This record gives sequence, structure tokens and C-alpha cells, in this order.
Amino acid sequence: MQINSRSDFDFMERIRQEAADHHTRTEVDDTFYASKLDAVWRRAAQTPAYRNIGPAGPRTLHETPVTSKDALKAHPLDYLRVPVTDGLKYYQTTGTTGVPTPTPRTARDMIANTVSVAEAWRPLLTGGDHRSLILLPSDIVPVADLIVGVCEFLGVPHTKAYPYTTGISDWDRIVGLWEVFRPTTLFVAPGVLLQFTQVMKKRGLLDELSGSVEQIMLLGEVSTPELRSMVGEWWGARVFDASYGSTESGTLAACCAHDRLHLLGAANYFEIARGSGIDPVLPGREGRLVVTPLNNDARPLVRLDMGDEVTVGDRCPCGAQSPTVTVHGRGSDGTTIKGNRVRTRDLEGIVYGSRDVMGYLIEVNSRGTWARLLLERDPSRDRGDEASRGDLIQRRTAERIGFTWDEVRFVNRLPVTTKSGGSQKSWKRSNFNVVDEGVPA
Ligand SMILES: [Zn+2]
Repeated sequence: MQINSRSDFDFMERIRQEAADHHTRTEVDDTFYASKLDAVWRRAAQTPAYRNIGPAGPRTLHETPVTSKDALKAHPLDYLRVPVTDGLKYYQTTGTTGVPTPTPRTARDMIANTVSVAEAWRPLLTGGDHRSLILLPSDIVPVADLIVGVCEFLGVPHTKAYPYTTGISDWDRIVGLWEVFRPTTLFVAPGVLLQFTQVMKKRGLLDELSGSVEQIMLLGEVSTPELRSMVGEWWGARVFDASYGSTESGTLAACCAHDRLHLLGAANYFEIARGSGIDPVLPGREGRLVVTPLNNDARPLVRLDMGDEVTVGDRCPCGAQSPTVTVHGRGSDGTTIKGNRVRTRDLEGIVYGSRDVMGYLIEVNSRGTWARLLLERDPSRDRGDEASRGDLIQRRTAERIGFTWDEVRFVNRLPVTTKSGGSQKSWKRSNFNVVDEGVPA
């Protein structure tokens, strides 16, 4: 996070104060949103996409059409008020669905996002003897830079070591680093954590490494409560679904000590799109999250439809006043298995709910009439109960999703593509395989 002027410093202080105020405020502050939205409108009017957005103001917000993610991805440069080459940082989305979206960020973009997230995580990362190991990629995508910024801002000692950085990091290097640095907090994608855990279990090192670890912050991919509970037991640590957002929007929600995601309402104006229209965010409401980021500088966005179905929650025992949110994913998420719509979260709830599984691969035939579930064994676990665990997975799949597998089989090793876990990987690409040979007709 760059701060090399008095005005950058004042800006950082203002964002910090806004986040702290929002954390404890019970009433929605209309004056605050009116002034922030006014500034959003002025920045947006400088982009080709919002050139004709009209006069600023909270009342006009409700007359402004939503921006779809498809429109943004189709013409990403139209939404920029800063040329691609003029941002302080240049990022791209990983682009699982097509062409990467160019994402320049200014110093103010970086300051605002970093400080907003840091304030949300402050109770988790300060007030003790914390050291963070960041097992996330640094190249092209912003996620590792954000975590580094948060650690710097909160004064948490940290180091980055993405295990797939050829020529720099690998498992051996990370084990060596661990012995010296003794991390207490891991920032990691679920797929990488599963892979790492398996390697350490095979080497008999998990007990030693987990000794220093108190908390694990999962980000970059979907993580289900079942997966968090499973890995929490392995590592003897508290495991959190750390944040929600996208490279386009910035961070929208961050976890608290109770593993609930709180909306970052000081940094975003949130609405919910339901059948009846677009409404303010209130506890109990369900629909698609629509967000107007209040601090986006290089790429202002007005009423971005995230496409994700969410449920807004009520009070959280942590004491923060901002609403919690449960993200269910996109309506179009997932795929069809034997004629049944299956979402990642539902399937992973069943797979990881059965405990001690290091990964999975779904094999289907091209006619869609046959499906087999391959589960990667936990190397430290007895194989004697695999048949009964397979039966349990069959029962739960039938109850919750509505079909039965033609086979559930435990294997020693799945292809590494099932877990190399960059950020926002494609489920269909990583965890599905179409096989026709040797499949019963
Ligand atoms: Zn909370």
C-alpha cells in the first residue's frame, strides 16, 4: 500500500475512521451514503460506460440501471476512468470464463480496500503474538498483495510463499521456512490447503507443523462449513471463510471471529435484487447482491449485479452491527449429474461432511447416464471403514441431491488439477472428467 503524500495519509485515516464507525453504528447513516454516492457519480461520469449517468444523488441511484458482470467483462475498458497504463498496480481477473479483464488500481484503490478489510479482521489478527504465512499467488491477481497490505497496516509479521512458484517455493522450502518462522495464521485457498495437508501427512510432519498454527483464513474459492470443520480438526486450528468479493468489485464482506461474513458497508452500498425489484439490504432478505463500491477510483461501478444469490443475516454474537451475509453462489453455478442440478457447495458439503477426504473427482459419461465419485484417501487413516463411508455418501447424495452414484471409490491419488487451486478456479475443469471407455452402457 503506497502512502507517499499527506493527502494519501489523510485519505487512509478517513477510510479507517469510516470503517470503525460503521462497525459500531446501529442506524443507517443517510448523510454518509449521500456524500459517498455523490463522489461515485462524479467519478463514474468520467468513464465511457457511465458518461450519461445524469445528476448525482441517492434518489437517482434507484433510477439507474444495474450493471451486469457480462457487460463489464465484454467492454472492461469502457468502465475505466484511468488508462490501463496509469494505475499504480495492474491486475487481471483469472478469466475462467473467457478473456481476462484488465484491472488497473490506483494508490487510493489499494488504500481503501486494504484498510476496509484490515479493520474487519483487526480482532482476528491483533492483540496477540501473530505471524502470517501467505500461501497465495502473487502474480497478476491481487489477492496476495491485499493480504500483505493488511498485515503491514495491522503490524503483523508476514511472509509470502505460494507453493507452486516454480524456481522459488515448493513444499520443502515451505517446511524449512516454517521451522524458523513458526506461523500462527495461514492465508490459503482450500485446494492448496488440502494438497499441502496431504503431503505433510504422508511425510509425518503435520503434528509438528500444526503446533504453531492457531487460525486458517481460506480464500479464493468456495469453502463449505463441512470442509472448514474437517481441516480445522486436522490442524487443531480455527478455520474461517475469510472474505467475499471479486477482482472487479473489490472486497465486499470479511469474516469475524465467529466465522460469519459481515458486509463491508462503509466501503459499499448494498442492495438486493429480488423478483419484485431492487431493495435495500435488510436482515432476512434473499436475492442477488447488487453493489455500488463507494471507494473505487480507477474503475467506478454503479449497481454491479454480482450474480450471486445471498441471504442477509441478523445480529452476530461478535457484536459488529453490520449485517452478515451467506453466499449461495450463482443460480447458474454447478452442473448436471445424471439429470440433477448439482451445486459445488451441496456436493462438497456431502463429500467433506464424511470427513478425512483429501479431494474428489467426478467421472461422468458423455450421455449423462452414469457417474462415479472418486475420493482421495487420507494417508493417515485406516481403510477398514471405507465401504460404510461410501454408503453414507450414497445416502446423503440421494437425500440431498436426488441421485445415486454408480460407484463411490477411494483412491490413493487424484490428478493434481483437482486441487492446484489458483483463485476462482473452474469447478468443471478441475473436478470433472468425462470418460466413456469402460463405462457400462
Ligand atoms: Zn460477527
